[in-house]
Amino acid sequence: MLPSEKQLLVNDLNNQFRHHGATHVIDAVLKHGVLGQVAMVSSFGAESAALLHLIAITRPDTPVLFIDTNMLFVETLIYQSDLAEQLGLKNLRILRADPATIAEHDPDNTLHKDTPDTCCHLRKTSVLQNALVPYDGWITGRKRYHRNQRVKLEFFAYDAPNDKFKINPLAHWRAEDVADYVAANNLPPHPLVAKGYSSIGCKLCTVPVGINDDVRSGRWQGRAKTECGIHFETKLLTPAEDMT
Ligand code: SF4
Repeated sequence: MLPSEKQLLVNDLNNQFRHHGATHVIDAVLKHGVLGQVAMVSSFGAESAALLHLIAITRPDTPVLFIDTNMLFVETLIYQSDLAEQLGLKNLRILRADPATIAEHDPDNTLHKDTPDTCCHLRKTSVLQNALVPYDGWITGRKRYHRNQRVKLEFFAYDAPNDKFKINPLAHWRAEDVADYVAANNLPPHPLVAKGYSSIGCKLCTVPVGINDDVRSGRWQGRAKTECGIHFETKLLTPAEDMT
């Protein structure tokens, strides 16, 4: 299928599903394969349990990709392991950058201080780029209420530079919807949520926030950076390319 045809398919799906909800979108993608082979990408963060549960009850064998940057909170690693077991995820894949690449480009783990975009490329973006090669697209947990670049999210998108479909089943959910779903299904919270972390990434780039602050305002606080880069719909660079 040509890129222009993929964009038309996405437009058509958004039109078809404009009055539908997350479960219909997930069924279409995972049960009926409307966008081919897809994986889910999850950070096992503050809001991840809801979408992971929806995926698990629909197709527990869905590939779930988790990127361990080796800079995560230990609480996230424990939560990831416990939640995956509780939900019965049957195809969890834990991804890490090649240690030799880390040793070459960030031997003392300080890249995040001065060039966080490069650090994210090295530890997340390029890792995900490689892992997504076999798939036509991927499912994300992005929501409009996260604001910034997410305010116009649709259920379906086409990332032309990387030739991947992106599916955002929870695009229209609000924070209250996530909380209601989590409570109704008795899903465990990430332990750092109770400590004020509303969005959880790497330990050195995440701080707790106030209850009235933007949900992602604790990420890269004090910097212009608001996204790790995995959602930028521009051609992803390899670490070597990004260093040039
Ligand atoms: S969030 Fe921070 S530590 Fe993690 S990969 Fe990005 S810059 Fe590096």
